[in-house]
Amino acid sequence: MRTETLTFCALCGAYCAAKATVEDGRIVKWEQDKQSGFHYLPCPSFKGRFNAEISENPDRLKYPLRRTGARGEGKWQRISWDEALDTIADKLTEIKETYGPEYFAAGVGEPKHFEFVWLQRFCSAFGSPNIRTPLAL
Ligand code: SF4
Repeated sequence: MRTETLTFCALCGAYCAAKATVEDGRIVKWEQDKQSGFHYLPCPSFKGRFNAEISENPDRLKYPLRRTGARGEGKWQRISWDEALDTIADKLTEIKETYGPEYFAAGVGEPKHFEFVWLQRFCSAFGSPNIRTPLAL
C-alpha cells in the first residue's frame, strides 16, 4: 500500500515541512511539502536519505527496554509503556523522598524546540532547578 503523508524533518530545529511517500511501511520518497505553506530550508539532509536511514535503522529504539544483564553487557528485555512509565515514576518518587527533589538532574543533548521547555516544566513541577543543555538557550 502506498500513502502520502504531510510531515516534517526533525533532524534540526528548522523542522522543515515535508511530504513522505510510504510504501509497505518504508519511506520511498521524501520531498518538499508545497501544500501546507510551512517553510523549508534546502539542505543536503532534506533529500530524505537521513530520514529514511533513521526510520529503517535496525538499532532504532521503538519501544521501552529494561536492562537485564550487567551494564555494558547488552542484555535487554522489552517491556510495555505502562511498565516503563511506572518504573520511572517509582524511581523518581524514591529519589525525591530519600534525597530531596534537587538530587534529580536532567540533561538534554541537543534540544531542538519544545523538548527543552517541557523538561524545564517537568523539573519545575518536580522541584529541581537542575537542568542542563550544551546549547545556550
Ligand atoms: S531539512 Fe535540513 S534544515 Fe530542514 S529540518 Fe531537516 S536538517 Fe534541518
